[in-house]
Amino acid sequence: MDGTSAMEHQTMSSMPTSTIANVPVLIHEMTHQWFGDNVTFAHWNDLWLAEGFAEYSDALSQEMVPAVGTPASAATRRTSYKNSAISLSSQSAWIPNNSSTTSDLIWNSNYGSTVYKRGAMIVSMLRTMCGDSIFFSTLTKYQTELAGKSATADTLRNYFNRALGRDISVFFDDYVGGSDTASTIKGGIGSPVNTVNWNAPTTFGQSGKRLVISMGTQTKTAGSNVAYFRGPVQIHVKGALPANDTTITIFDWGGGNLSYAGNGISIPVAGNKLTFDLSFVPTTVLYDDSSRTMSRGTGASPFTGTTKLTTLEGYVWLGTTNTVWGTASNWTGNLVAPSGGDVTIATTATNHPVLPSGNTTVGPLSILAGKILYLNGNTLTINNSVRYTGTISGSSTSNIVIADKAATLNFDQTSSATRSLNTLTLNTGASATIGTGLLEIYGGLSLPVKSTLTVKSANMLLH
Ligand SMILES: [Zn+2]
Repeated sequence: MDGTSAMEHQTMSSMPTSTIANVPVLIHEMTHQWFGDNVTFAHWNDLWLAEGFAEYSDALSQEMVPAVGTPASAATRRTSYKNSAISLSSQSAWIPNNSSTTSDLIWNSNYGSTVYKRGAMIVSMLRTMCGDSIFFSTLTKYQTELAGKSATADTLRNYFNRALGRDISVFFDDYVGGSDTASTIKGGIGSPVNTVNWNAPTTFGQSGKRLVISMGTQTKTAGSNVAYFRGPVQIHVKGALPANDTTITIFDWGGGNLSYAGNGISIPVAGNKLTFDLSFVPTTVLYDDSSRTMSRGTGASPFTGTTKLTTLEGYVWLGTTNTVWGTASNWTGNLVAPSGGDVTIATTATNHPVLPSGNTTVGPLSILAGKILYLNGNTLTINNSVRYTGTISGSSTSNIVIADKAATLNFDQTSSATRSLNTLTLNTGASATIGTGLLEIYGGLSLPVKSTLTVKSANMLLH
């Protein structure tokens, strides 16, 4: 053992006297008791499953253990991983077969750095997109169920896919690069440079507290072998007061499809727009200034990478012309919400919207106070949340499908007809709440496994 290194052997960490008191080295080697020893990488290709977690644990310990560091020092540590990972432009964290068969190539080339630093950032990005609850519980399960066994990148991915109820293979393809089934590397080299457009419209009674986000351009660092990096994007939003401070995480699937992320990952929302209801008026938006992802914004650090676009609005129904959903002039910017888009029915709407025949799919749906969405005997599929206190007017021939979590449905209580549905269907894993007032169902209620329907004060009537 030379004077500066340390080495993990199964159940025994070897450290010279010069590093035994070096906390980052100590934590790195101790982490290998789990990542490397308890669950071993099945092939050298996935050495990052040991080293990426061990390296990330240094920043994690600084964040979590006051005697070791602070959240600020943890961010500094992540920044050093991030800068190092971004600077490595010719290797992936996943070691291709032709390099993994020669041990010298692993340790005496840049693979050493990509396996450690890029590996650490992949771990950081997983935590960022999942949120702490899913991230830590999934890793606990991975360590418990695979104790004494081995894993590959695909194994880890499958654990997160199951926990999220979402397939994040594209993230593993773009940032890790290799998998059990790939004969050649799928990606994993380079990183994205993004711009994020934002606006806080002062219309529709929102007082500028509604943040609208869209992804702008993506360029890539030299050597990138990925067409479009799909993964987490984090922004830091500030207002006029010090307390006006929040971080927002989205998952960028490419092609204008975005998910709310950071506490699970929502069904992708079409149309390249997401809205966030804040408690303050945003004045500054910074791009990942605490280095939680491997993507960065444009410009110099701290990366702004964001542009305020005063023309950026959500898909907002104004009903200026008539009640027809598909009439462009009823929407801000003459843009009809695309299928799965993030829809707002404005307080200032002059006509209430009426759904067209067939099925209409929305992402998050905001029906502002006093406004009514008429189903008119058709089907509404809701992929995300329903926000605000406006109502839905149904009928005994209208249907609602809830595809994801946390939809709260308030029905128009004008008459028995307006508070009725033919069918209410929750997809597997979906959840919904019947808000105030009664709901009457004439056809059927479908609640498959793992779906949850919350009904307050017995306000549902099944005919
Ligand atoms: Zn190590």
